[in-house]
Amino acid sequence: MTSKDGHKQKQGADDDREGGSPARLLPAPGASHVSLQGEGSWTNLLTLLEVSPDALVLVNAAGRIVSVNSQTEALFGYPRSELEGEALESLLPERFRAAHVPDRERYATSPRTRPMGAGLALYGRRKDGTEFPVDISLSPLLFDGALHVLGAVRDITIRQHLEAHERAAREAAEARLALLQLVLDELPTCVYFVTGSEARLVLANRAAVTLWGTEWPTGQPMLDFLTTHHIRLFDTHGQALPPADFAALRALHEGKTVFQHQEIIRHADGTSLPVLVNAVALDPHLVAGLEAGGGNQRISSAEPAALVVLQDVTPLKETEQLKDQFLGLVVHELRNPLAALKGFATMLLRHARGDKGTALASWQQEALSEIDLAVNRLNRLTEDLLDVVRLQAGRLVLHRESIDLVHIIRRVIAQMRQSSDYHQLMLSTSLSHLQAQVDRGRIEQVLVNLLTNAMKYSPAGGLVEVALQEVPGRQEALISIRDQGIGIPQADQAHLFGRFVRASNGEIHGISGTGLGLYLCRELVSQHGGDIWFESTEGVGSTFFLRLPLSPGISAPDVPERPPSSQRE
Ligand code: ADP
Repeated sequence: MTSKDGHKQKQGADDDREGGSPARLLPAPGASHVSLQGEGSWTNLLTLLEVSPDALVLVNAAGRIVSVNSQTEALFGYPRSELEGEALESLLPERFRAAHVPDRERYATSPRTRPMGAGLALYGRRKDGTEFPVDISLSPLLFDGALHVLGAVRDITIRQHLEAHERAAREAAEARLALLQLVLDELPTCVYFVTGSEARLVLANRAAVTLWGTEWPTGQPMLDFLTTHHIRLFDTHGQALPPADFAALRALHEGKTVFQHQEIIRHADGTSLPVLVNAVALDPHLVAGLEAGGGNQRISSAEPAALVVLQDVTPLKETEQLKDQFLGLVVHELRNPLAALKGFATMLLRHARGDKGTALASWQQEALSEIDLAVNRLNRLTEDLLDVVRLQAGRLVLHRESIDLVHIIRRVIAQMRQSSDYHQLMLSTSLSHLQAQVDRGRIEQVLVNLLTNAMKYSPAGGLVEVALQEVPGRQEALISIRDQGIGIPQADQAHLFGRFVRASNGEIHGISGTGLGLYLCRELVSQHGGDIWFESTEGVGSTFFLRLPLSPGISAPDVPERPPSSQRE
């Protein structure tokens, strides 16, 4: 049979003798199809077949192969001469052939473009008998007025491998995530992962639901979640925490780990929960690819990520409260006998000096002076302990007034000079006055504490320099106290402002103390809206810095000139 363009059509094309199928079936009305007709159409068709990257097989209505392209030859290992005229089923494995014939015939009655065997695993069979997975799509083609079918065959071996690989990787990742969730759920502490600058939730454990009192949906930003459920965060002084200070947000925004941040969670029903937060800034690659919310939103490696661990410290706080109550009781009970001791010691000393009553032997006078000094020390200790109790109970109130810092510093220095002959105390400032709205007694207490330490921890004596300046443009005073003493070992520096914390070298040098002074200094300075920190080198000396806002409303978080290595709380 010869087509209109003069090409000899192979046997089987348009062959109505084969397979009993209708010879000139037409595509179903409305079905899309390609129609080739007229001059050069056969040549054009063959050229087109060659261009395709897929193996193309042109089949007539009787299911006989009319033509194939060279990709088909390469894929199935047959020269085209062996294929043309063969039944299409010869390209299938034996076991599929019988089933395919009725399929093909059904297709011939309603031809349209569609994948073949949708949902089935299809295989091709090479000449050498080997099989390979294929994807076949069928398109009706009206050629010279007769229906043909063009099958595009694609070897999907590699795609299937890749898909299997991807499926296995996804299953492994899901299994790891499920295991992680299981482990996290068993933890008694609240653990969650957040990502992005808004702290969108990636994963939270069961304890988190208990702690927040409600479920935080994956993908929801932290502030949205808190606002929706009327949950608020406070600091330990009961002040509302600005979001920028939330440990989780700081870890995300600053990219650094926030340790042991004390926060108080207040729920909508008014109940409060004190928590200790550790927010660990994570390498974003660790969570990249995980889902962060509905709609298959995946985390990109460009987003910051943090692991947040919240520990409910209610029992700890309750124990602490009990301890503080006990401390308060003991200190109150100590105050009366101490006042009596102080009173009688002072009276006896005054009488002895004024030649009233029986004269005292010098050893007796010395003993009385020692008693007086010891009582002074005990009084200071009880006052410090009372302050600790007041602070813990939130009962330490400042009485602010306008005072001249230059004057107060000079007075404290003069007073401290009385207690030591072998320390030189010096004030360096260009200011004659610097007015500040502070609690005079409390600021004096801080200065006395820092100067006492500067002298106490310089057992060999030496210079203690106090400097005062106004920070330009910031309405702040910056006070520094520098000594040439024993310094503070690097390893002890991070925790020095904690309660009852002492550096290891104090004991070594035989210097006694309670570790309460710096804690009180920090609390008092922070109640003034200020800041305290230090720089120290063991064996060289220490400098303590004090930043104080001059009026109560002004509080700046950072001093630009602050040296980078300084310890600050
Ligand atoms: P203490 O009663 O022990 O002196 P503080 O709270 O005032 O308590 O100080 C805490 C610790 O800090 C001290 O025990 C000491 O180890 C260290 N320290 C404080 N000031 C200085 C200083 N100027 N030089 C060296 N070490 C200091």
